[in-house]
Amino acid sequence: MAELDPELQPETVAVHAARRIDPATGAVAEPIHLSTTFQRGPDGDYPTGFSYSRSDNPNRAALEHALAIIEGGADAAAFASGLAAATAVFQTLAPNDHVIAPIEVYHGVMRLLRTLFVPWGLRVEFVDMPDLDAIKKTVNAQTKLIWVETPSNPTVKLTDLAAVAEIAQQAGALLVCDNTWSPVIQRTLALGADVVMYSTTKYFGGHSDVVGGALIARQENEFLQRVREIQRTGGAVPAPFDCWLVHRGMQTLPCRMRAHCENALRIAEFLASHPRVAHVHYPGLASHPQHALATRQMKAFGGMLSFEIRGDRAAAMALPNHTRIFIRATSLGGVESLIEHRQSIEGPETRTPETLLRLSIGLEHPDDLIADLDRALAS
Ligand code: PLP
Repeated sequence: MAELDPELQPETVAVHAARRIDPATGAVAEPIHLSTTFQRGPDGDYPTGFSYSRSDNPNRAALEHALAIIEGGADAAAFASGLAAATAVFQTLAPNDHVIAPIEVYHGVMRLLRTLFVPWGLRVEFVDMPDLDAIKKTVNAQTKLIWVETPSNPTVKLTDLAAVAEIAQQAGALLVCDNTWSPVIQRTLALGADVVMYSTTKYFGGHSDVVGGALIARQENEFLQRVREIQRTGGAVPAPFDCWLVHRGMQTLPCRMRAHCENALRIAEFLASHPRVAHVHYPGLASHPQHALATRQMKAFGGMLSFEIRGDRAAAMALPNHTRIFIRATSLGGVESLIEHRQSIEGPETRTPETLLRLSIGLEHPDDLIADLDRALAS
């Protein structure tokens, strides 16, 4: 695969990363390699580097290469889901290792830690991550990993990545950032994270039709070697077609992100001025308490926002029944806009306000989305 000029812009990189013309057919789109096994050479070696598809596959290799390029990392490992990628991170640790995670972490990661890794022996403490002093007070000699998710889900609070990277470095701990909400617009490795994690189900896939996950590490190191071992031996690998879909989705990622962000800002501004809305959580609004940090740390403010309506839980539950374009569904990052009463999906440990609705802003025209919300808020 031809190396890309490091000076190229993200849009160009995304289109061409780990792409090649198929030498056998001249096909411009990468073929999908469904074969589970690959022919050995006369001496028992593997002349193409591929032996068995759980260990590696041409579509997975191309996706991982593209992920490393677009993220500016040393290498990547692709997984069958975002949570499989997160699982691999925690599996690199040992019982009694200490982990710090945000109290407002994606609820699936919270459940993963509480139901699988705490019983297995990890010592996990959840802190109010935007509060740097809370992290400093919680770090100890056994702290091996700090898990950050910024902006947080669903109340869109920011954590200062460069500041946490400094704390992690001083503690000798790995800093892992779940950047699922902010590909392209938040360069977490450049800001000091050691590893960036994605649910590629979201913006990378971009069309709500593939589940996947990925880890990209800043440097080739022991952690990355262990992750590859877990990926190949544990076997939570993505299918070739899923890799192909994520790699295809990535080609339009920077352009889609630009449109998601532009639309979301328009909608946040509309909601902030609506009398039925008590509060809008979006870092692009000057009223967001961390707007200055967002401006420093993000190139744009993302396609995700949430808002609290005046009224009670029943009113918040009812509102999504009156939208015609926003679809009542969980998840995010697809071309279609979604609306969700978040508290009711997060389970008993939720801290989310009962009047909060989360929006994943899609690629429809913002005027149509605003009209749709306006109508629903009036009903
Ligand atoms: N991280 C975040 C921020 C998410 O929103 C999700 C899924 O919603 C995940 C991780 C888990 O990803 P997956 O559903 O692909 O396992």
